[in-house]
Amino acid sequence: MGLRLLMIGPPGAGKGTQAAQIARDHGVPKISTGDMLRDAVASGTSLGLQIRETMSTGRLVSDDLIVALVRDRLRLDDATVGFVLDGFPRTVTQAEALDGLLNGAPLTVVEIQVPDEELVRRVRGRRICESCGTTVSAFDGDPAQASACRNCGGRLVQRSDDSEAVVRDRLQVYWKETRPMIGYYEPRPTFRRVNGALAPRDVYAAIAGAIGSVAAGR
Ligand code: AMP
Repeated sequence: MGLRLLMIGPPGAGKGTQAAQIARDHGVPKISTGDMLRDAVASGTSLGLQIRETMSTGRLVSDDLIVALVRDRLRLDDATVGFVLDGFPRTVTQAEALDGLLNGAPLTVVEIQVPDEELVRRVRGRRICESCGTTVSAFDGDPAQASACRNCGGRLVQRSDDSEAVVRDRLQVYWKETRPMIGYYEPRPTFRRVNGALAPRDVYAAIAGAIGSVAAGR
């Protein structure tokens, strides 16, 4: 049976990186609402123009718009076997809407926890490859040399909402809007919490273990 996984965590927790790996392992798509919205902004669609300002300040895009986007994405063939959701849901309203879309299909929920100051440090040093989308940390090597992607040689850039001021706002939004949503999932037997302050491979092992334990309990 395909995996249906939600990755919850604040900006910089490593959701995107871990979600990509877990999705590859299970042969299911990684669905990131942040990536979908950034694509819409980059291509200048009417959706992109509507949400550009909201995203640049770190606020959340409206629940209606996001739920419609995810509903359409989950209808595509590749998502019928399963998916890893990264960055959605972020509010209780979105979580309730997702339950409606899933129609009772089993869902594994993993929360990645990382202290705030570590998140700010990580996000300030985060760079994204313009060509292949790989995320790297400028702290992994000499920041002065962190200009070319090790995968494809593409240019590494900083997301406009990864500045320290916007990151602090995004964290506030997270604690206000998304923390209550975690309370929505927490009582479920398919909810797990992992320590995201560890090295990426250890976080990966913890997530893989969490998925295995949920599957064993079904
Ligand atoms: P992310 O890449 O997940 O950090 O998302 C970047 C930005 O996209 C967020 O700061 C929000 O402005 C917007 N966004 C992404 N996912 C959602 C969502 N599920 N609900 C509302 N806004 C979202």
